[in-house]
Amino acid sequence: MTFYLPGFRSFPKLWMSTPSLELGPATSPVFFFLPVTRNQHRRFSVKATPPPNSKAMNLLLAKARTPKKGNYSNRQGSSDHYFAAGAAKKRSHLTSNPQQREHAPSHVMSTIKLPTKPLSSGEWDKLKEDFNGKASFEDWVISQMVRSSSSVDAAKSLLAWVAAKNNGIVGYNLLVKYLYLCVSHKQTSEVIDVYEIMKAKYKCLETAANTILIRGLIHSDRWREALLLLEDIKKVMVPSKRNYNDCIQGALLHQDVDVAWSLYKELVGHNLIPLLETLKAFFDFGKDINDDHYLDKLLDILLYLRNNHLYPGESFAHSIKTWFESIPGRQWEGQFTTVQRSGHCSSCGRALESIHLSPEEYEFLKGEIMRDVIVGGDQYKKTTPQELKRFQNFVNSCPPFDIVIDGLNVAKMFFKSRESQILLNVVSQLAQQNLRLLVLGRKHMLMPSSRWRKDEMEQVRKQAHCFFADNISKDDPFLLYATLNSGNHCKFITKDLMRDHKACLSDVRSQHLFFKWQQGHQMAIMNNFQRSKLTFQHTLSYDTVVQTTGDSWHIPYDEDLVQRSSCEVPTKWLCLQQKTQAPARS
Ligand SMILES: [Zn+2]
Repeated sequence: MTFYLPGFRSFPKLWMSTPSLELGPATSPVFFFLPVTRNQHRRFSVKATPPPNSKAMNLLLAKARTPKKGNYSNRQGSSDHYFAAGAAKKRSHLTSNPQQREHAPSHVMSTIKLPTKPLSSGEWDKLKEDFNGKASFEDWVISQMVRSSSSVDAAKSLLAWVAAKNNGIVGYNLLVKYLYLCVSHKQTSEVIDVYEIMKAKYKCLETAANTILIRGLIHSDRWREALLLLEDIKKVMVPSKRNYNDCIQGALLHQDVDVAWSLYKELVGHNLIPLLETLKAFFDFGKDINDDHYLDKLLDILLYLRNNHLYPGESFAHSIKTWFESIPGRQWEGQFTTVQRSGHCSSCGRALESIHLSPEEYEFLKGEIMRDVIVGGDQYKKTTPQELKRFQNFVNSCPPFDIVIDGLNVAKMFFKSRESQILLNVVSQLAQQNLRLLVLGRKHMLMPSSRWRKDEMEQVRKQAHCFFADNISKDDPFLLYATLNSGNHCKFITKDLMRDHKACLSDVRSQHLFFKWQQGHQMAIMNNFQRSKLTFQHTLSYDTVVQTTGDSWHIPYDEDLVQRSSCEVPTKWLCLQQKTQAPARS
């Protein structure tokens, strides 16, 4: 694709043939001709706008083609638990003011309308006259063009206009942003042209430009040059997972499996978590390959997902299914399904791995929480050592509890009712089930007031063990301590998701164990609370993680239409069974 301005040839050629190009750095305007060397990276740092969010895009596309669905699709499944993907979002929608949910006003646009087609020099001059922003006009326009993914032709006419006015000189920023636009529109020949220009101009590019070039080159016959650019990045820093993704995709696109795997090995060797699309690419490529070595590597990727608690997206799950079903002679069959509350797969009936921690895991987690959350960390020293001691003595003097209740949090759950009344209601209903209860509260709850009635609090104290901390104390560490100290059977009630505490744990393994323990032990009260009736959202009995028995795989995955927060787990599963084995039904 070439664009001609009156009097000019195609832009890159015009640019290349400009006499000023032959001038050395010393005689050229510093801002443009300075060769970019390693210690000047900062100076030339170009922050490209990230590509349009592909997940959001998929979401829109999917919305466009999917008829309107209900909020839930499978009552048999267990997608209504507290940690179900999208549940937090639903909860926040239920409680927030509808007006607050409206989108924030889009950022104020300048009065200038971005051109959608190439402009002549005169038209650009006119546009610049109308511009009253503080930034440089050219920089502002190209940034807006990148943001709104303008046509390459329109951007090219801007660069041609700038070049014509500046003796063929186009600033580095402008050029990199133009390159970004060409790459995002997959205009490979244009990318190659700009690549040639930049190679001629600069001895070494900074990482942002290399990143864009890599992405643009992998689709062309010159994809191996992207590997050289990756080497350039390595001289300065560890390349990003996005850089590795692009190079791996390029290698697979050109059937060079060995290069792809060695890049993958390097990526993981840097302790980078690969992008899911990188892993998906290996599966997509794998369905045309009949090679046991390759097969083993894909199974390793699945175990990698398991160990790192990663979940494939919907299209990745489809790729995994397709690949399994394509393995000759193995007769795999995949089904998309859900898991029943009992922890059995709705498709094959197998029981999934239990959510419960092994005794070793439990002891390990308990030790970590005591050390990192309750005792250590200044951030959580919201209590005095004396009070902590008083609490520990209190807990140790009581028999183990069945349920620990965050009194303040529970009492404030339904803001139309009186706090002490709600707390009493919760406590009474649990006490009727002969459960040994601990209510954690603050001292101010004992001061009679309209919200905390004395008679109701006395009834609470009759039915449950109670500990009232100083008003300045933080409740959660006490809640965690009392629950963990009571043993693996003990559950707790709070609406708090305790993300801060999870973050406080020192390593990923303890964080995963904490989340697993939380899913199996945190009880939540349903929103349809009425004075007389109390229902709890069930806790999960099975672990939501990639798992295998050899002749079966169960792989949780994220749906495109559901936004899952980090404190939630997917509810949809891919069940894979090897048909040659006897079906294991329970
Ligand atoms: Zn199954």
